[in-house]
Amino acid sequence: MSTKQAPEDLSDATRIVGAGRRSEWTGPVVNPPVWRASTHLYENTAALAQGPRTNEDGRFFYGRRGAPTQWALADALTALEPGAAGTVLYPSGVAAIAGAMLAVLRPGDVVLISDNAYDPTRSMGKGLLTDFGIEPRFFDPLDLDAYRAAFCERTRAVLLEAPGSLSMEMCDLPALAAIAREKGAISMLDNTWASPLGFAGLRHGIDIVIMALTKHVGGHSDLMMGSASAGPELYEKLRNRAQQLGNVVSPDDAALALRGLRTLHLRLAHETQSALAVAQWLAARSEIAQVLCPMLPGAPGHDVWRRDFTGGCGLFSFVFRGGDAAARNRFIDALTLFGIGYSWGGFESLAIPIEPSAYRSRMTWPPAPCGEGDRHGVRLAIGLEAPEDLIADIEQALDAWQPR
Ligand SMILES: *Cc1c(COP(=O)(O)O)cnc(C)c1O
Repeated sequence: MSTKQAPEDLSDATRIVGAGRRSEWTGPVVNPPVWRASTHLYENTAALAQGPRTNEDGRFFYGRRGAPTQWALADALTALEPGAAGTVLYPSGVAAIAGAMLAVLRPGDVVLISDNAYDPTRSMGKGLLTDFGIEPRFFDPLDLDAYRAAFCERTRAVLLEAPGSLSMEMCDLPALAAIAREKGAISMLDNTWASPLGFAGLRHGIDIVIMALTKHVGGHSDLMMGSASAGPELYEKLRNRAQQLGNVVSPDDAALALRGLRTLHLRLAHETQSALAVAQWLAARSEIAQVLCPMLPGAPGHDVWRRDFTGGCGLFSFVFRGGDAAARNRFIDALTLFGIGYSWGGFESLAIPIEPSAYRSRMTWPPAPCGEGDRHGVRLAIGLEAPEDLIADIEQALDAWQPR
């Protein structure tokens, strides 16, 4: 091939290697140095007076607007999100969700929140947003008619998440986004699970794509960060609001996140393969009533996932057939290769017990295909260990579950 390929023709694997690298930020080194900077100095008072006018992304101004380390990360994330004009970084995923909400909502507005959204998102609706005169209404994202009927004249925005937190339901994101647009509301998607490599949100009609970079982008369980990406108009709004809220991320963390980002593609592909192997194995076990893993053929939501997504990750859940919470907890305690902890998206495998009914007001738990007494769930985050070792560990831990 003699012609140089345009960046958008390159595959994600290729683009992720060089995304965000600009010689004016990195000089001759591969990675941007960690620019620890609060004060940015000006040549003279005339240049200082020009400052506010050159307060654009990628220009020195003052530390709260970042410096090349943060700019390189934001730029790389923008390059990976087709349709994005820019990306705002936040000190955590929750801060990104709050930043997006506060950028688009005003007192008196209604925000529709997916009933299976991450619990702190639900709590934000009932706490922060309610306190500021914004009304949260929860909806079942699998019921398009009920969703459509939930809009009113005051509905300004919709918060989506797929798959659902803990219970892993896969909704029809393009349809939900299209209905929001038709109703004049802004759609926001918490895309932490798939990342833009697995689901190109803006290309599917979403207006603001949010990620907890804490999870897969960081990828090594050692930093907290969030992001929101959008087209030109909403990006400006996000950026201004983030500035007003004083959101800035440390350059050390930005450098770590950028390092994590370079291997995101590999880690997601590996995790997805391993998660599928574990999910398949679990699905064949008599102790398991239902595997909640949209990537698994035959599992709930698989067809929608196949249609809309180009990738997955290592996070999924399953429900025991019968048993009780104590048996489920014995199983988790007997695992030796899975840590017990919140979060996910690191290189290491994790397991937690789940009881989503405490965080639902519109959807039911256990999910429909489960029988009467099947309700005790586990969420697994499959890391980079060999899947056969993880399966062997799960097999021995199932001995501890066996109802005696
Ligand atoms: C962890 C998580 C968040 C929040 O990210 P933090 O960095 O922990 O604040 C948001 N959404 C989802 C889906 C998450 O898993």
